[in-house]
Amino acid sequence: MAYKISVSSPTGLLQTPLRELRGIGPERGAQLERLELRCVEDLLLHRPRRYEDRRHFLPISSLKLEEAALTRGKIVATGLNRYRHGERSVYEFILDDGTGRLHCRWWNQPFMEKYFSIGDEVVVFGKPNSLRPRTMDHPETEVVQGDGVENLIHLNRIAPVYPLTEGLPQRWLRSLMWRIVAEFAPGVPEPEPEIGVTSQRIELREVTGDAEAQSTNSQPPIAKPQSPNPKSQTPIPNPQSVLLPSRADALRMLHFPEEMSDVEIAVKRLALDEYVALQRALLARRKTLEARARPLPCAGDHNRLIKPFLARLGFELTASQTKVLREIRRDMGGPAPMRRLLQGDVGSGKTVVAACAMLMALESGADAALMAPTEVLEEQHAQNFRRWMEPLGVAMEVRTGGGKAGSAAATQERRPAGATVPPFRPTLYIGTHALLEASFAPARLGLVIIDEQHKFGVAQREKLVRKGRYPHLLVMTATPIPRTLGLTLYGDLDISVIEQGPPGRGRVRTFLRAAESLPRVWAFAREKLAQGRQAYVIYSRVEDADSSAGVKAAAHEWHQLEKIFAPWKVGLLHGRLKSRDKEQVMAAFRGGDTQVLLATSVVEVGVDVPNATLMVIENADHFGLAQLHQLRGRIGRGAAESCCILIAAAKTAGAGERLKTMVETTDGFKIAEADLKLRGTGELLGRQQSGVPRLRFGDLSADADLVERARALVKRAENV
Ligand code: ADP
Ligand code: MG
Repeated sequence: MAYKISVSSPTGLLQTPLRELRGIGPERGAQLERLELRCVEDLLLHRPRRYEDRRHFLPISSLKLEEAALTRGKIVATGLNRYRHGERSVYEFILDDGTGRLHCRWWNQPFMEKYFSIGDEVVVFGKPNSLRPRTMDHPETEVVQGDGVENLIHLNRIAPVYPLTEGLPQRWLRSLMWRIVAEFAPGVPEPEPEIGVTSQRIELREVTGDAEAQSTNSQPPIAKPQSPNPKSQTPIPNPQSVLLPSRADALRMLHFPEEMSDVEIAVKRLALDEYVALQRALLARRKTLEARARPLPCAGDHNRLIKPFLARLGFELTASQTKVLREIRRDMGGPAPMRRLLQGDVGSGKTVVAACAMLMALESGADAALMAPTEVLEEQHAQNFRRWMEPLGVAMEVRTGGGKAGSAAATQERRPAGATVPPFRPTLYIGTHALLEASFAPARLGLVIIDEQHKFGVAQREKLVRKGRYPHLLVMTATPIPRTLGLTLYGDLDISVIEQGPPGRGRVRTFLRAAESLPRVWAFAREKLAQGRQAYVIYSRVEDADSSAGVKAAAHEWHQLEKIFAPWKVGLLHGRLKSRDKEQVMAAFRGGDTQVLLATSVVEVGVDVPNATLMVIENADHFGLAQLHQLRGRIGRGAAESCCILIAAAKTAGAGERLKTMVETTDGFKIAEADLKLRGTGELLGRQQSGVPRLRFGDLSADADLVERARALVKRAENV
């Protein structure tokens, strides 16, 4: 699912290699290539890192301490001082603009000397770190030189500031861009004229006169003069709505805007182009699948197996579960293979849905396979499914890794005596990554289910799917997926959501405590144990608690906890345990033989022990939001009220806010949105997730509206 976004034109002109342009020799060409700028189009899409409003400069006399500002002046003195036998140096020049003087200094960069001379006019952007005398260390600078045209490009305007590479001067690149924009931008065509992007209106966000407010936005900050007149700092009250410009105009506005709002408009236009291209790719992929693939019909056979299964289950399916199952049944009986994402918060009851879907496949005479990311989880599924399937007489096989071929087959078959042995028997397979091995070759694979899908890479998912001829695919995730990601990263999947979990669940309350209050936390935990409850203690003293050093530290912690909790028993679970030992530890906890489970984040996914109502997470600040939400999802599974205590060592910046989100809400969507804002797309989806498209202008954490629009526009254009 790694889509290359290319919004390219049919005309070859934009593909002209930069090296073929006049004024770009081999040296400059190589520097541009280091920035991955090879052809004209690459350059046009090279996004400025920020902008400087060079129509207004702040007088040197009104520079403020630690406030970023743009100023200019003439160099009146320069000097290079070497010390420590020439090992260290400081280069300095003094700038004068008639209102005051500014010292600009560079430490240990003696080569700076050759760029400046007395009498040069220099534009400086930076933060004064002292006012007596006014000094900036390592500011960004540009010598102003030349005549009218040069000044038109670099001065008296909002000037773009580009990402550079060593040896490439800002001024040179800006001049080149000016030329390229003038020469090529007008000829840039609309990539999808029939889609009508230029008929779209967007709302501009409120523009304030405050440079700081701008710099916190995803848009590159502009260096604005701080106006001495406070009246001009009041925000413009009504956001404006404007029509999107042509792609050609957008490129011009991106590089040489007349107002800062031009940049915002241009970025939105270019982002929309990216989303349209992405939606096209997703839709094309989907269409190919629908045109070519003929799946096995798997809608079931009059609930032959499902009915007795549900009758024994001990609870009724929730309305959400039933609705999702209806969607799944419709897909699995349809002409194209199902491609569905089942999203339900932790504890919402996805496993039962998976079981019913698998039974539909079996009823229809096809095999079904369920892949889980960890052995702990796989073992839990195996236990549940054995209990559920045995009375139904369903063939089931469990496959775990660890290279033990013998452990692969735990077939449980009960055939009525005297029945003829059929040549093929639909089988339900459960396993970890072991299902990806070549030895796993089911005869008629009709349905593939992947649990906790974000733990697997896209390639692994595809590998399992290729074990059959276009089997139906259901991927399940507890990581709530913000809508923007649902429509992009998972844009070729239909999405089902289990909105409400099973009834009668106790509330989960979350508290944030400092490490000093651990003794009181342990006392509280003992009270809970005395009431017959169980507790998780999540451990992450070291970064990778599952390394050998980490295991040692965890073992030490374990002995401490055994002392603290005696006579109650403490189990220890970490990633380095052998799978049989893991199973034993989990079984003991599930069965109530141990009351406390000290675990590294291996319990993160899927583990289900309703009697555990307390979770203490040590060093909670080491975990990301999505991970904390997953961890906390292990409690609150029974009727009793549960309690999650986050222990944070110190008030690290950022961590505090993250953890506050956890205290304030248990809503997985809110947490996912917050996580997306805080950390971007990559982390939320797990490190292995390689399908995140690379966007130059789009920002998935902010562009819900544009993504939806792109989807709608493409669908309309393709009549679907
Ligand atoms: P998850 O969606 O996190 O995988 P599980 O499938 O593990 O959640 O379900 C969590 C718990 O809820 C399990 O103990 C399961 O048996 C129970 N459960 C699932 N559906 C229902 C239901 N409709 N009514 C009551 N309990 C249910
Ligand atoms: Mg689960």
